[in-house]
Amino acid sequence: MRLSRYFLPVLKETPAEAQIVSHRLMLRAGMIKQSAAGIYSWLPLGFKVLRKIENIVHEEQMRAGHMPMLMPTIQSADLWRESGRYDAYGDEMLRIKDRGGRDMLFTPTAEELVTDIFRSHVNSYKDMPLTLYQIQWKFRDEVRPRFGVMRGREFYMKDGYNFDLTKEDALHAYNRHLVSYLRTYERMGLQAIPMRADSGPIGGDDTHEFLVLADTGESEVFYDSAVTDLSFGDRDIDYSDVAQCAGVMEEFTTKYARTDETHDEALFHAIPEERRRTARGIEVGQIFYFGTKYSEAMGATVQGPDGKPTPVHMGSHGIGVSRLLGAIIEASHDDNGIIWPEGVTPFHAGIVNLKQGDAEADAACEAIESAMEALGLEPLYDDRNERAGGKFATMDLIGLPWRITVGPRGLKNGVVELTSRRTGESEELPPEAAVAKLA
Ligand code: ATP
Ligand code: MG
Ligand code: MG
Ligand code: MG
Repeated sequence: MRLSRYFLPVLKETPAEAQIVSHRLMLRAGMIKQSAAGIYSWLPLGFKVLRKIENIVHEEQMRAGHMPMLMPTIQSADLWRESGRYDAYGDEMLRIKDRGGRDMLFTPTAEELVTDIFRSHVNSYKDMPLTLYQIQWKFRDEVRPRFGVMRGREFYMKDGYNFDLTKEDALHAYNRHLVSYLRTYERMGLQAIPMRADSGPIGGDDTHEFLVLADTGESEVFYDSAVTDLSFGDRDIDYSDVAQCAGVMEEFTTKYARTDETHDEALFHAIPEERRRTARGIEVGQIFYFGTKYSEAMGATVQGPDGKPTPVHMGSHGIGVSRLLGAIIEASHDDNGIIWPEGVTPFHAGIVNLKQGDAEADAACEAIESAMEALGLEPLYDDRNERAGGKFATMDLIGLPWRITVGPRGLKNGVVELTSRRTGESEELPPEAAVAKLA
């Protein structure tokens, strides 16, 4: 991509309305534009990162054997009356009337909708286990939308729903989700700690939230510092292996880690004092097991092996896809801008031409651009006629992990400069070698 042709409306001034760094940087880097309170347009750079994050979520859900689908954003109120949640959900639900006066709503979550699909088509235990998921826009009329995409009213969420014959099977689905979430967040360069939480309006017994530690987080959390030493890494996982998934679950949830809703002072004080931590966190996901709550209310039963109708055991599992952009930036930035982890960066490297219009420099930049593309890497080539300082500032702001700086002086010695955004370290090397380092 050539920057001269890209739509990157970078802001020089720090927007006054943005209270936290991720919101400021997303506005300054031209990633989003607010259209109404808590409702945003995703400009090309923001949209590109959103897609990267979405793809990782899809890959990890499909790897776990979960099936992608898509449900509508607008629902009829009828199903919510069946479950009893139409009144219970309260003011966060955006209620709409169609021209015929029928009550409709904009999806805040989709337990009812997916349970209706399930009960319409699945009659036998032989068609289970089944986990369906979607990545779809949600709307919640938050009292206080703020912090940009972190607490929007419209937001992009992955919501998955498991249907199982027994509680044991449903708990395996719960564990599968925990494992797939650990992998998902790690691929985005994030440490998200599973913490015992409260189930709120979804209802149910078992639930964990995944929290990214950050001073700007809205949740208060309490944990044993030993949980921050855990990482999933690239170990092999067989999602059909019940014991293996349960083992990961135990490994990651046995040490004390809770949100304020479930915090227990007595248990907390059983941890050695030097390991006790109180901090703030950003909720980037949550998993629930809620048994037969919806299947009983909505008549989602299957014929069991004994021939008798039995209500299915369910759980639901969410990832805040759009909130993740904010969480990643909160966790990875410096005074000059964003520092994208490799897994989600919108472009792999920026090419900065120090002397646009110089035949040799232009040709070298174009060669680097083609060489990167040949390796399946996406470069962003700053081919504008601007001062070097301005080009560097833009690259630092938008946070690409690598910058290749090309100028006539270096080219005379056959070298370009490769700079790491994270460490700021540079080395001079031939253009081919610089590209090879990115692969
Ligand atoms: P919160 O406690 O932040 O209000 P929640 O517990 O109500 O979130 P869930 O119902 O668990 O949210 O939804 C799954 C995920 O969707 C959350 O873990 C969070 O990452 C994301 N999410 C929820 N509400 C918002 C929002 N208003 N804006 C952006 N993301 C959100
Ligand atoms: Mg909420
Ligand atoms: Mg919550
Ligand atoms: Mg939640």
